[in-house]
Amino acid sequence: MTIPQLIQFRRVVVKIGSALLVDHAEGALKRAWLESMAEDIAALTKRGAEVLVVSSGSIALGRTLLALPGRALRLEESQAAAAVGQIALARAWSEVLGAHGLTAGQILLTLGDTEERERYLNARATIQRLMDFKAVPVINENDTVATTEIRYGDNDRLAARVATMASADLLILLSDVDGLYTAPPQRDPSARHLSVVERITPEIEAMAGAAGSEFSRGGMKTKIEAGKIATSGGAHMVIASGKVLHPIREIEQTGRCTWFLASGNPSAARKRWIAGTLIARGALYLDEGAVRALRSGKSLLAAGVTRVDGAFKSGDAVIVRDAEGTEIGRGLVAYDAEDARRILGKNSAAIEAELGVPFRSAIIHRDDLVIGR
Ligand code: GLU
Repeated sequence: MTIPQLIQFRRVVVKIGSALLVDHAEGALKRAWLESMAEDIAALTKRGAEVLVVSSGSIALGRTLLALPGRALRLEESQAAAAVGQIALARAWSEVLGAHGLTAGQILLTLGDTEERERYLNARATIQRLMDFKAVPVINENDTVATTEIRYGDNDRLAARVATMASADLLILLSDVDGLYTAPPQRDPSARHLSVVERITPEIEAMAGAAGSEFSRGGMKTKIEAGKIATSGGAHMVIASGKVLHPIREIEQTGRCTWFLASGNPSAARKRWIAGTLIARGALYLDEGAVRALRSGKSLLAAGVTRVDGAFKSGDAVIVRDAEGTEIGRGLVAYDAEDARRILGKNSAAIEAELGVPFRSAIIHRDDLVIGR
């Protein structure tokens, strides 16, 4: 079985656990480590990869800045700590990336932003635009407002959702463990390190145990759950230790890590999801020109739409039909039905006059479109 090489990936999400960024005893940022990480990120971008960072650390940093006691924090206390710590965290990222000419953009997400279709599409569009601007998104959970029931609580699964949302082809989870073992290595001396997991089976899940250190929320269990989300979304995942300086360079040089292999690629996985698992809430009828444009891989513009059926919301799946009513594909529509009716047949100048700015140029973006035949 061939083990992938980091060089082959185009869009990489790197998840960094609190224990790597924040010194346990002093509660301060590990500046030298952060600088080495920024250097690794810059090296990836120089080779043409796009990088997104999912960084923990706000609660750990905020706790020091507010001089909170060492005991476990109550929810509101950790939320207050996150509010304070996130500013310091974002500033640090902005500085260390800025030293390499990279611009950081902060995104704070809640569970709902990644699970509800319309908010998901919004967050996805913003991330895409940041990438177009060559900025590095620095992402964390919006801990200040998330309550227990509606939060991830761990950045492993959040990072995996970000990876699928951004159609990344690789997710790197950096924490204090260097990969998956056949059994928890602290307890079982015969535990063997695995370099590749082809598929996450119940046996693999059983290897994870439940452990997690006090500082990092996610144990191996949340990492395996992240692996399921990422690999089924078409991204490979790597678990590697970030305890050294230049952790990404280290993965390349030593190969010490566990790879979880993706099933398919991100766009195939996304298209499968659009084509197969969504219920269509309406239909758009197209003129001939639009049908031709779609078949040649273009986005669907309102100008080519002749009729709108159904009561859908923006982000819903709709069927795309030709003038005779034959289904030619499916896609996630960027407008709700009412606005779609207002702009059908119109070019962008007319849409701007109708809806005002800003408006989305495509009624279905080509990444959100699956053409059947
Ligand atoms: N969002 C939390 C923080 O920034 C961390 C969650 C995690 O470490 O998984 O402090």
